[in-house]
Amino acid sequence: MISYNDAKELIAIEFYKLKLKTELIRLEDASLRTLADDVYADINLPPFDNAAVDGIAIKYNDGNRGWKLIGEISAGNYKELKIDANSAVAIMTGAKIPDGCDTVIPMEDILIEDNLVSLKNDVKSKRGMNIRRTASDIAIDELAIAKGTLLKSRHLASLASCGKDKVLVYKKMTVGVLVTGDELIPVALKPESDKLRVSNNYSLCGIIRELNQYAVNLGFAGDNRDRLKVTLANTLSSELDILITTGGVSMGKHDYIRDLFHELGVKEIFRKTGIRPGKPAFFGKWRDKLIFALPGNPVSCLVNFEIYIKPFIMNLYGMGEVETVNARLQNDLQKRDSKRHFFNAFLSEAKDGRHKVTSQLSQSSGNVIGLSKANCLIEISEEKLNPRKGEIVKCIKI
Ligand code: AMP
Ligand code: MG
Repeated sequence: MISYNDAKELIAIEFYKLKLKTELIRLEDASLRTLADDVYADINLPPFDNAAVDGIAIKYNDGNRGWKLIGEISAGNYKELKIDANSAVAIMTGAKIPDGCDTVIPMEDILIEDNLVSLKNDVKSKRGMNIRRTASDIAIDELAIAKGTLLKSRHLASLASCGKDKVLVYKKMTVGVLVTGDELIPVALKPESDKLRVSNNYSLCGIIRELNQYAVNLGFAGDNRDRLKVTLANTLSSELDILITTGGVSMGKHDYIRDLFHELGVKEIFRKTGIRPGKPAFFGKWRDKLIFALPGNPVSCLVNFEIYIKPFIMNLYGMGEVETVNARLQNDLQKRDSKRHFFNAFLSEAKDGRHKVTSQLSQSSGNVIGLSKANCLIEISEEKLNPRKGEIVKCIKI
């Protein structure tokens, strides 16, 4: 068994060796995708001096408070006009500033009567006011958005303005989920006797999709050794970046997954990590594929995904770090061993604005209902034993 920290390090090495493929997609499809190339401005932004408000454009002359209106320019409808210090042009927000003008006075600061404009009493003006200058946002050839940025709606306008109707992004990872166990039956059936509705494929495919990657539900396989071997061989040779299996990986008589992966040539990197729940997790590699064989208990497999897989996908795709907060514990926790523990818990804000966390939910690793009521995992490190009510603990939001 290796420690949580060592396991993370070994996983990190393999994730960072992955060469993410790229694809060119339409800008309108780029939301939540990750930019695979630096994007530079292909023009100045703004491309021309323009009015920041509706008003009049003038050639500033200190002390002048009246002008003759000689024309109008609206956004997108520029025209050349002959300007002198006593003339003004009505101008709309976004319209190009006519040659010779250097200042825009807002509409609300002026009075217009019979083509004569005057400044309202007490209004002060200043040379250069209310003009958005050429290249003041970005100059041509400057970096607009860096490679590795997770594209949100706020980035799309920049890309559009830089002329990117298509953008190069990293391809989504394809992650296959195969669940195993003779006891498993489809959700639509009512379990009889010793059967159990399959659930891990839904939670795992769900979390993969929450990370905006492709999840492939590979269905479920029984515990028959020979048939399982054929299924595993097929999944290994299919187009997946990551293969996740659940079940059949601990010490039970029918837990064949690890042996079968060995027989099929998967290189084992580790087979058990010092965490609870979810100790018997296997990590290996087959060609470029990362292979995670997670325990079948629904809480165990999801905890493994949350701590060992999600942070690296987030990192590769520019999604930042998994969100954690420190919170005051509202009840004692039982922890008597030197593993790293992850408790289902409920995080909320206390009256003083700080966080509090309650972990009175069931900690049974098979309890999917307890898990569904949790919104975080309390992480308790190896050396810490039996944390008490009132202590500050680290919580991973889930
Ligand atoms: P295993 O890791 O195969 O020993 O399974 C551990 C426990 O998790 C057993 O109680 C299984 O019934 C349960 N289990 C295994 N796979 C699944 C699954 N896909 N969905 C729900 N429960 C499962
Ligand atoms: Mg099993």
